[in-house]
Amino acid sequence: LIEVSGLRKSFGDNEVLKGIDFTVAAGSVTVILGPSGSGKTTILRSLNALDIPDAGTIRIADGVIDFAKPYTKADLVTYRKQSAMVFQSHNLFPHKTVLENVIEGPVIVQRRPKAEAIAAAEALLESVGLAEKRDQYPEQLSGGQQQRVGIVRALAIEPEVMLFDEPTSALDPELVGDVLEVLKDLAGQGWTMVVVTHEIRFAQQVADQVIFADGGVVLERGTPAQVIGEPTHERTRQFLKRLL
Ligand code: ATP
Repeated sequence: LIEVSGLRKSFGDNEVLKGIDFTVAAGSVTVILGPSGSGKTTILRSLNALDIPDAGTIRIADGVIDFAKPYTKADLVTYRKQSAMVFQSHNLFPHKTVLENVIEGPVIVQRRPKAEAIAAAEALLESVGLAEKRDQYPEQLSGGQQQRVGIVRALAIEPEVMLFDEPTSALDPELVGDVLEVLKDLAGQGWTMVVVTHEIRFAQQVADQVIFADGGVVLERGTPAQVIGEPTHERTRQFLKRLL
């Protein structure tokens, strides 16, 4: 469902991505691991066109762009529509209720009928255990609940691919489990997911593919058993030793 080849991105003199290649199968979970500053977030932001790569071709479902060549705004819109991103902290609209936050994308951006969007939003909130919070404001929820609303808001636009950028790293430890459970459920439902996280146990239990990024390249890629269980590079071993 996703094909990334030759992805490059610099910020000024800082070449962050030096030719990244990987694929993601439909309905699979990919976890990206790597040291701080290795470019994991930049990979995700490139998949969502929040960062525009300098070079490389990325295909996501019906969206494809060769970033080294000219492309139209329509190409970019189609490309961006294929994925939705969940950030470290939810960034919900503070003056909108939970329900209003969730239907914003479907109603305002996708112009879907409001009644239909509300029904879909209620079902999604129910599925993450937040049905009764629909009329509350973000500040009335715990961090973990806010993050679950953030996930529902991304799901509501029905993207082909869900991108998660360290979705639990800003949470208090006791709230991390709830959010990881939601991610597990989504994986079980067949969502295609790319997750940047330091939660090694989650990677071992849920990932179909693990990518270890370091120094702007994909150093290792394989099953959790391969990359976490039997890493081939010393750099990967050193990194894992600190996490396990
Ligand atoms: P972390 O685990 O700390 O979040 P990461 O692997 O996700 O790190 P990135 O956030 O992708 O790494 O950042 C990689 C490098 O790119 C860093 O050196 C960072 O300072 C730089 N960088 C990222 N975004 C920008 C930007 N908008 N402008 C300038 N430099 C940037």
